[in-house]
Amino acid sequence: MFRKVLIANRGEIAVRITKTLQEMGIQAVAIYSDIDEDSLHVEYSDEAYSLYGSTSKDTYLNIEKIIDIAKVAKVDAIHPGYGFLSENPRFAQACLDANIVFIGPSPSVIAEMGDKILAKKAMTKASVPVVPGWSGNISDIDEIKNVANKIGYPVLVKAAAGGGGKGMRIVKEVAELEQSIESAGREAQNAFGDNRVFIEKYIMNPRHIEFQIFGDTHGNVIHLFERECSIQRRHQKIIEESPSSALTPELRKKMGEAAVMAGKAIGYTNAGTVEFILDENKNFYFLEVNTRLQVEHPVTESIIHGDLVKAQILVAMGEKLSITQNDVIQDGHAIECRIYAEDPQNNFFPSTGILEVYKEPTGPGIRVDSGVKQGSVISVHYDPMLAKLITYSKTRNAAIEKMLWALNHYPVLGITTNISFLHDVINHSVFRSGDIDTHFLEKYNVFDSARINKDKELAIALSGLICDGNKNIASLVVDNKQQKSNLEPWLNIGNWRMI
Ligand code: ADP
Repeated sequence: MFRKVLIANRGEIAVRITKTLQEMGIQAVAIYSDIDEDSLHVEYSDEAYSLYGSTSKDTYLNIEKIIDIAKVAKVDAIHPGYGFLSENPRFAQACLDANIVFIGPSPSVIAEMGDKILAKKAMTKASVPVVPGWSGNISDIDEIKNVANKIGYPVLVKAAAGGGGKGMRIVKEVAELEQSIESAGREAQNAFGDNRVFIEKYIMNPRHIEFQIFGDTHGNVIHLFERECSIQRRHQKIIEESPSSALTPELRKKMGEAAVMAGKAIGYTNAGTVEFILDENKNFYFLEVNTRLQVEHPVTESIIHGDLVKAQILVAMGEKLSITQNDVIQDGHAIECRIYAEDPQNNFFPSTGILEVYKEPTGPGIRVDSGVKQGSVISVHYDPMLAKLITYSKTRNAAIEKMLWALNHYPVLGITTNISFLHDVINHSVFRSGDIDTHFLEKYNVFDSARINKDKELAIALSGLICDGNKNIASLVVDNKQQKSNLEPWLNIGNWRMI
């Protein structure tokens, strides 16, 4: 039984993990950088320790400092969240060496799956379908040209240590091959300190479909169904949902079985995600295993009515999975939108400043996992994701309507967000049809000009308030009904009133 757990992370995921720990009667220990001293994850924690520094290298990526704090705080375990050190086998090993449980899989599994070449090899051995490709001596350019010809162009050059879409190049013809290998290798060297690359077939118009898996330390592995993550920008997910509209019950069963097979083959424990790519003929191929909790885990929690962080903690304490595959049901439909501090109309440039007004939507079937509150300072130092908005309902259409309502009732002033942009995506006829692929945002101009004009009017009406400076008594005179309905989400926030 854990008494105290340190969360080696920040932002929304640190807050989210804290809540479950406290619910389980476990004390949550936070760590923070200088910039994060007043942040929400510190506020929620039972105990908090400064990392004394501001760069990530000096703080959330500093293994020694974190282990030292964990020892001083006498924690039983460390939850790494996602990002930062969550997929660093050296960190997982350092925890074990300090006699602290690492809430995640073993260091060797993290290392194997963190190397896309090794991961593909392991999956091929386990008879899980992988994208046709090649990995070998990258300086043997004639051999690579031969292989690429056999696979057929376009091919994709990928970094073995890749992540976050970095170190990837699409190669349309042989003339581009050599240079793409070089530049992908260079980018990978800079980002990951590892220049190894491999090539695989570039799947046209694919869908990204991943399966949540869970393993315990007693050899049981189950899957918790899929998440469709095809709405991406620069290979980064922005909207995720479950179930996927692309899967028939038969295909779902087949992919779920493949995901479990993948997990069993590598002796997987704790929460993991097996990512697949689905081509236009509904062939699926293994992409990678993410050896941690995913950003989009609330989608799964909604449809299985469970708490994945709780399950992670129980498994880390050595408990057996309390359910078998047949107990897991996929019930209803959930959608998640990632709320970013960025300006979609200015090439998604990150937006910084103070959250002058920030009010999260609430209601049945609406969940917001956030790491900020009104007054929070949004800086350039960290990922621009402010929060995740998740809606859950019986059907996809109902979850879409609920999401549109929630996005319309999520007032944020002081910085620019992608909330309206997400609204345009969710409201788009093709998104509504469910016939989506990873190129959705390149194929369609989703910006809704009528909505943009409405937003402009609103911004002008609200700018008076923002400039007022005297927020406690700020009030707004609204003289027509249309304006009033535009301003509706801003009613009754904080001390702001409408007369
Ligand atoms: P990363 O680890 O950098 O996120 P992934 O291998 O998970 O890289 O791929 C990220 C995204 O890139 C996928 O969701 C998909 O959109 C695209 N992608 C990856 N491999 C292929 C492929 N072989 N063909 C087409 N698109 C791909």
